Amino acid sequence: MTPGRPAAAPDVADRATAGFSQGYDAQPAGRWAAPGRVNLIGEHTDYNDGFVLPFALPLRTVVAAGPQPGERWTVRSEIADRPVDFGAAEADSPGRVTGWGGYVAGVVWALREAGYAVPGARLAIASDVPLGSGLSSSAALEAAVLTALADLGGLDLPAAHRPRLAQRAENGYVGAPTGIMDQSAVLRCRAGHALFLDCRDESVEHIPFDLDAAGLAILVIDSRAPHRHADGEYASRRAACERAADLLGVPALRDVPVADLDAALDRLPDDETRRRVRHVVTENQRVRDTVELLRAGRVPEIGPLLTASHASMRDDFEITVPEIDTAVEAALAAGALGARMTGGGFGGCILALVGADRSDAVATAVRAAYAERGFTAPTTLTALPAPGTTRLP
Ligand code: ADP
Ligand code: MG
Repeated sequence: MTPGRPAAAPDVADRATAGFSQGYDAQPAGRWAAPGRVNLIGEHTDYNDGFVLPFALPLRTVVAAGPQPGERWTVRSEIADRPVDFGAAEADSPGRVTGWGGYVAGVVWALREAGYAVPGARLAIASDVPLGSGLSSSAALEAAVLTALADLGGLDLPAAHRPRLAQRAENGYVGAPTGIMDQSAVLRCRAGHALFLDCRDESVEHIPFDLDAAGLAILVIDSRAPHRHADGEYASRRAACERAADLLGVPALRDVPVADLDAALDRLPDDETRRRVRHVVTENQRVRDTVELLRAGRVPEIGPLLTASHASMRDDFEITVPEIDTAVEAALAAGALGARMTGGGFGGCILALVGADRSDAVATAVRAAYAERGFTAPTTLTALPAPGTTRLP
């Protein structure tokens, strides 16, 4: 996805192995791979106790790892010249290891805090997931490290508990307030499936999403839009949703059924709040409708739901930016069956459902629309749903 790496660059797993052998003058005990993810539909529903439907990307972060005596962890990454090295004292003080090493120290912290005896380890990381584009390189890093440490230490760590631990690393150690979606997707997704996640009870269901059989693909386009005020806007949307739920007397907006939407809107004080609520309530319904269509194998028919989700984010939730709207409009005009922004908004990526043979033409049309508007050229990736975190042979 990120231009600049030559097409003939070594495979990410080979790069992780090379990073380990060059960095530590030894061979790793194993390699663990975790994917980036993209959310097919369900935006700003997570903190409203609602539904999301992510799937794993074919881009992966790979950790090559081996044991190290004592409670000591040494980590190298392709993105850094120097290794990060820490012991139990640093791991046990959230925030003490700063920068990218904090994501690794955070995993050690979350595991230790949950009572696991985390083995000392040396790790080397390589990744094809672009950092900071909203495709969850952070969760991929946490998931790969968590799984590596669990296997090296023979830890009894049920699959259903892993997302919470990885999320805790990011929330509690790094200090980034993220929901449970990223870590659930990266750890639990299956190839050829999307992950239907109920953010209230964290239950998951694997929904067949066989794009290949349908002759379709998902084109992911990094808008390259600078993230403008994203943190403050996110906080204000979240606060508006919580206030509205209070006014409506429900635990969360997830508890407003779409059939009761008009009555609920009548009870809200102003137009802005009404539009915020309408987005969340209709978006939850669109996730459920998408799941029903996918269960019935009617993949092309999800296109209009994706486009309706975009309109709702643009007009009601007001979280899109010109680059994003331009990309969606150009993709639809070039024949995409549906297109929407994915992620929290104010930048990040869009995804478009396209005929597998139309992917290049749609990408070209988006690039042309960008050039016409003078925007920084977008980067693109054609994706089929890939597996979640695994140990590599
Ligand atoms: P996103 O998850 O959308 O890619 P975040 O800001 O949540 O963006 O996470 C990006 C951060 O995660 C990076 O700035 C870096 O600190 C860390 N990170 C992710 N992947 C790697 C990697 N391969 N090597 C080192 N750090 C990484
Ligand atoms: Mg992240």
